[in-house]
Amino acid sequence: MNFDNIDKTEIFDAFLGKYRDKIDLNSTISVYNSDCQGGNIVQQLESTNNDSPYICDVENFEIMRSESICSACNFTQKEEFALIAHELGHLNIKLNDIECNDTQDEECKADDYAVKLGLKSELKSALSKMLTFCSDDWLKTLEISDYESDLEKRITRL
Ligand SMILES: [Zn+2]
Repeated sequence: MNFDNIDKTEIFDAFLGKYRDKIDLNSTISVYNSDCQGGNIVQQLESTNNDSPYICDVENFEIMRSESICSACNFTQKEEFALIAHELGHLNIKLNDIECNDTQDEECKADDYAVKLGLKSELKSALSKMLTFCSDDWLKTLEISDYESDLEKRITRL
């Protein structure tokens, strides 16, 4: 696996340096920070209210890091590694045609990919920060209760 790090966002290079050997995805993934112009996901985001720290476009093999959400959540480097690994989990599902019963099941299977890389506790703390953050004042436009309870289920499961 390789990253095409479009705007040289540091965290993606740091992630690769540490986990490349452990990742069995045979593809190149475009990665960038949300303030980078030219990514597909950024354009889509402008027309939706959906927002989270990392977003994956499984059709185009892109992962975007949201600068505003990541700094608001104040993640550690390893927590961000866990979130990147989770997004790779989505790509793994797509690449290997792994069957998922529903969205929640897919989220859990993507979480398992981060667990496999040894990032279980970091993923758990990252999700907890997201939960705290969205309980505050965040994502008012989303269906908060669903979002929160889905996050809670994932945290409990880990
Ligand atoms: Zn996910």
